[in-house]
Amino acid sequence: MSKISISYSAPSERMRYGADILFRTCLGVDVEWVDNVDLDNSGTHFYTINASTKSLKCPIHSLSFCDDMTTRSSGVMWVEWKGFKFPGEVLGVTDLMFDPLAAAFFCCSRWEELPSDGEVDTEMRDTHGRFRGVSSAAYKEGMLRTPIIENLARILAKELGVTPEITTQDYEYQPTIDIDIAFAYQGRSHLHNIAAGTRDFVLLRWGRVRERMNVLLNHAQDPYDSYDFFLNLHEQSHLTTQCFVHFADYKRPYDLGVSKSVLIPLMEKLSSRANVNWHPSYAATSHRGQPFLNEKRTFENVGNTSEIRTHFLRGQSSMWTAFQDASIQHDYSMGYADQPGFRAGMSRPFPAYDIEKDSPLELVIHPFAVMDSTLKSYLNLDCEQSLHLVSELSDAVREVGGVMMTVWHNTSVSNHGIWEGWQTLYEDVVRRCLP
Ligand SMILES: [Zn+2]
Repeated sequence: MSKISISYSAPSERMRYGADILFRTCLGVDVEWVDNVDLDNSGTHFYTINASTKSLKCPIHSLSFCDDMTTRSSGVMWVEWKGFKFPGEVLGVTDLMFDPLAAAFFCCSRWEELPSDGEVDTEMRDTHGRFRGVSSAAYKEGMLRTPIIENLARILAKELGVTPEITTQDYEYQPTIDIDIAFAYQGRSHLHNIAAGTRDFVLLRWGRVRERMNVLLNHAQDPYDSYDFFLNLHEQSHLTTQCFVHFADYKRPYDLGVSKSVLIPLMEKLSSRANVNWHPSYAATSHRGQPFLNEKRTFENVGNTSEIRTHFLRGQSSMWTAFQDASIQHDYSMGYADQPGFRAGMSRPFPAYDIEKDSPLELVIHPFAVMDSTLKSYLNLDCEQSLHLVSELSDAVREVGGVMMTVWHNTSVSNHGIWEGWQTLYEDVVRRCLP
């Protein structure tokens, strides 16, 4: 493994975390901290990143000193460098105009999301309490659609004359499928099917009346039964399928799962061809603690609970320590519902961080670049425009040799109802994202 050293006498946990992300995670280059004089003549702190023949003198941002009070009052400014913009501007006489370790910490820890945690339906958060992509600094700076921290790492390597162990050849594609509503008609109570069927009848929705009858009488396939379609597609392309399955009791309006009597056989069938992971429900993430742990326990008998993606993408950095305490090792919730792109400035998996305790976590965060419903519901894109955007995101990941992850649903690849045409689009997406 190649190696760089950073000269500074007392690096904070945040500085060590930033360095690990930039050099170990993004480049596969080892980092050594070396004790050194860290004050210049004017009394300003700096650190120096040293490679075998070159070095870079970098300023230190208040974020790196864990001084959140100063940082909140002054704000985190972004600065242009080598065709990108990075957070953590520090004015002074050093080789860089910003602190690259603070930039990595700022993006990966999701530091900017913390002050608005708990808000609902505000400028920063939506009605589900989720941080809005459009409110993020990266979006406002026009840097959300590229993994900026991986770009920063590659630029640093070039400036330092370091050859990264990770190259553009390491690009990977990871398709993931969320299963919120496993079947349109199967697995519903008789009462539900009678009530819904009567409503369709009264509203003269004859097509749906016929479809429901045919599925329930076993004369037709359930419209959301798209499992063979995506499993075959992924297998033909030698891709592993990661599924995240909603497994909570039916609870309007956000947890609309089907009966376990049809869900469990489906999961057994899926598990021979895919990883079947837990998709913690809206209720479980609303009432963390016992309800979360209870739902986890019920899933443990049928699937994998060490890897999760939260339903509605409600998982966020303030929950990371609780996830780790619940023996969760991998969280795939890193992305925005309202905007495609790289919420943490990363495409590849990276270690989580506990900002309150200022310490790195064992939990691994897996970012995704784009979700089907973001394209359709938030951006109102048609299939052609969606494919164009996915291609751009995939190219941005290729440039850094990262991991392109997509989030699709069994319902959207079904071609049913509002998703007409999206099955063909998904075939195009997979083809376009392949290495
Ligand atoms: Zn979901």
